[in-house]
Amino acid sequence: GTPPSPTLTARHLHARYGGFTALDGVDLDVPPGEVTAIVGPNGAGKSTLFHCLAGTHRPSRGQVLLGGRDVTRLAAHARTRLGIGRTFQQLAVFPSLTVAENVQVGAEQARVRDPGAVERALRLLGLDGPVRASPAAGLPTGTLRRVELARALAGSPRVLLLDEPAAGLDTAEVTALTRVLKALAADGTGLLVVEHDLDLVADLADVVHVMTAGRIVASGPPGSVLDTLAARESPA
Ligand code: ADP
Ligand code: MG
Repeated sequence: GTPPSPTLTARHLHARYGGFTALDGVDLDVPPGEVTAIVGPNGAGKSTLFHCLAGTHRPSRGQVLLGGRDVTRLAAHARTRLGIGRTFQQLAVFPSLTVAENVQVGAEQARVRDPGAVERALRLLGLDGPVRASPAAGLPTGTLRRVELARALAGSPRVLLLDEPAAGLDTAEVTALTRVLKALAADGTGLLVVEHDLDLVADLADVVHVMTAGRIVASGPPGSVLDTLAARESPA
């Protein structure tokens, strides 16, 4: 069988934009076979943490480890080849390429040689019908989010990072997305999900971390953490 996926770890991460501290000492594990969620208000540093893990922002202090290996200084494309897949909060498909070609790019970027990886990803996201030959330009947001996820999956990631995967999706699409992400976790992939939709987080996550002002201020299973959050935010 497949070897177990490695744990992705943030160890005492700090990040700055000029003089502004966006991450102020974050410790986090993304273990295999689990959905780890990050919630918190706008500006909390969720996307910055995501970028530090994916390799698109260089932390000012601290480490990123993949299966115990220090990858802090590796570029994003090198991390992709080591099995860290990601999608983007702002959709980043190639508009002139077809759906299938966009997904093929994901396999190539990750240097995946398995010729079945692209077809499996298309099928898992329901993109193996006629839409596979459509140019990405002009497709609805829900379809483009599926293209993005399929592109990440074509790279056969062991750890998958998703920044607001439900943004712009309708209820039926969120249900379908939930089913796919649960199947990936059940298969042993480690998932990190940054998400505004707390109902989705409650349904999906094994562990939730609450971020505020660059720090993790609460962690635990969704039941207890989200109840605490709701109690804190609603006036007594
Ligand atoms: P979140 O994803 O939780 O909304 P971000 O990580 O995007 O938070 O942002 C954290 C803080 O860092 C915010 O105050 C934001 O304004 C600031 N920030 C984010 N990106 C940049 C940037 N490129 N330059 C300067 N400040 C930034
Ligand atoms: Mg963000």
